Amino acid sequence: MSANTDYYNIESCFTEEQILIRDATRDWVVKHVKPNIEKYFQKAETPSHLIKELASIGGFGLIFPEKYGGVNADYISFGLMMQELERGDSSIRVISSIQTSLVMYAIYKFGSEEQREKYLPKLSTGELLGAFGLTEPDFGSNPSSMHSYYKEQGDKIIINGSKMWIGNAETANIALVWIKDENKVVKGIIIETDKITNFTTTTLKDKWSFRSSKTGELVFSDSLVDKSQVLENSTSIQDAYECLNIGRYAVAWGSVGIATECYETALQYSKERIQFGKPIGSNQLIQKKLTDMVTEITKAQLMCYQLGKLMNEGKANYKQISMAKRNNVKMAQNIARESRQILGGMGITSEYPVMRHMINIETLITYQGTNEIHELITGRDITGFNAI
Ligand SMILES: Cc1cc2nc3c(=O)[nH]c(=O)nc-3n(C[C@H](O)[C@H](O)[C@H](O)COP(=O)(O)OP(=O)(O)OC[C@H]3O[C@@H](n4cnc5c(N)ncnc54)[C@H](O)[C@@H]3O)c2cc1C
Repeated sequence: MSANTDYYNIESCFTEEQILIRDATRDWVVKHVKPNIEKYFQKAETPSHLIKELASIGGFGLIFPEKYGGVNADYISFGLMMQELERGDSSIRVISSIQTSLVMYAIYKFGSEEQREKYLPKLSTGELLGAFGLTEPDFGSNPSSMHSYYKEQGDKIIINGSKMWIGNAETANIALVWIKDENKVVKGIIIETDKITNFTTTTLKDKWSFRSSKTGELVFSDSLVDKSQVLENSTSIQDAYECLNIGRYAVAWGSVGIATECYETALQYSKERIQFGKPIGSNQLIQKKLTDMVTEITKAQLMCYQLGKLMNEGKANYKQISMAKRNNVKMAQNIARESRQILGGMGITSEYPVMRHMINIETLITYQGTNEIHELITGRDITGFNAI
């Protein structure tokens, strides 16, 4: 099977370093993720043994300076890494992305130098695993209305509230949570999960998407934390949204990975599967599906590449990131469904990765801003009317 769907030779625009990172990640996924991920997915288990290995290929904090454990890589390299990880499985990309885009980025951007030095190197090696807590049971698409709050008491803060749908909730050593202070200003707080008091975590059982990634709840009941754990330079909910921008950028590239994996699987199958005495790929109806797929993947790749360039230049805005996230997830959803159909009955088995990716996309459609919220962000931008 070709591992390089690149109809417009976009690779010719990549630097040597970008290609190196993409290929190293691809090789790692082929060797460590693809052989066993179906079993983990079926059993709803996380391949935790891969966390340290993921760190060894730069999976945590690639974009940050070496001083903090990163390699100072650019955003296209980061995007290509997300693309390749998600070709393996969303759960693998999401471990890398929560750590890099949401937890490390928050500390790097809004933490003090002391907080950076204390946490970033350990997060980059995987010694510490992070979670990002923004969503609450009653506040998903509108997190700014959140109810969780804290009050100061001497050199401590007391937190009350809960965070829902949190990746790594039960396993994280560090939970980067967003909570309102006494003036109702949202601040980022680094929770060391083994030090906080009156704090519980649970994991959601029986979910059908992101099965190899644990999702759960963080519950605070008069929980005590040192005041020094508040991110020193965090000033509003906009800071959380800035982290989400990097997360959404990762999803936009990851979706290309899913779409490519599904398309290449369907293409190969269409050449091998014989019905009515000829390969199914020789039928016009199948060719139409495959043509649409490769065209949509090419458009999404170009979108990612240009967005990556804008990110590198510090010129990308949240609306552009929002558009890429929405478009590419929807594109991957359509391609996964069509690929599954091309595989016929085999498409619903775990012999092929398509159904697993199709199920994972249901989460991509909803998290990091739902498809509808992103539609409304673009709608607001182009019309000037806020329909959210
Ligand atoms: C597997 C998984 C992992 C997650 N991981 C994390 C995590 O690590 N950290 C974290 O903080 N959160 C996480 N989330 C939460 C995720 O970000 C939320 O689920 C998402 O923001 C949507 O919130 P909701 O589920 O409460 O849906 P709701 O906000 O209740 O929305 C329900 C439906 O209503 C629509 N809707 C809402 N408002 C409008 C409107 N104004 N106009 C039109 N339609 C609207 C939505 O698009 C959606 O279709 C995760 C979610 C999942 C499923």
